[in-house]
Amino acid sequence: MSVQARKEALRYLFEPIVDKLGYKFTPAAEDADFLLEQEAELEARLGAPYCPCQARTKDRAENMKIVCPCIPFHRRHYDAMRRCWCGLFVHKDVTDPDKLRQIPPDRFFKEAE
Ligand code: SF4
Repeated sequence: MSVQARKEALRYLFEPIVDKLGYKFTPAAEDADFLLEQEAELEARLGAPYCPCQARTKDRAENMKIVCPCIPFHRRHYDAMRRCWCGLFVHKDVTDPDKLRQIPPDRFFKEAE
C-alpha cells in the first residue's frame, strides 16, 4: 500500500477512536495531512504508526504508549492542553488550534502536583 493510501486509511481508522475520546482531527488541514503522512512512513519502516513528535526508546512497552492515537496513555496531560502533543487531534469544541499551547510533560506534572 502506498504512503498516500495508508495515510487515508489511518485517517479513516483514527476518526471513530478519537471521537469516543472527545477529540477530532485538527481543523488545520495541512498540519493533519503532514502528520498523517509522517505516521504512514513510520509505520512502513517500523511496523506501527508511531508518533512523529515523540522520541522512541529501546523499551517496547514504553514505545507502545506513543503509537497513534496515544491519547489514552496521556489523557490528563492532553486534556489540559485540549490537544494531543503533536496537535493532530484537538478537543471537539476547538475551532482555532493556534490558540492552544503545548505544555511540556515535566512542567505539566510538576504544576499538577
Ligand atoms: S501525540 Fe497526537 S499525533 Fe502523536 S501519537 Fe499521540 S495522538 Fe498521535
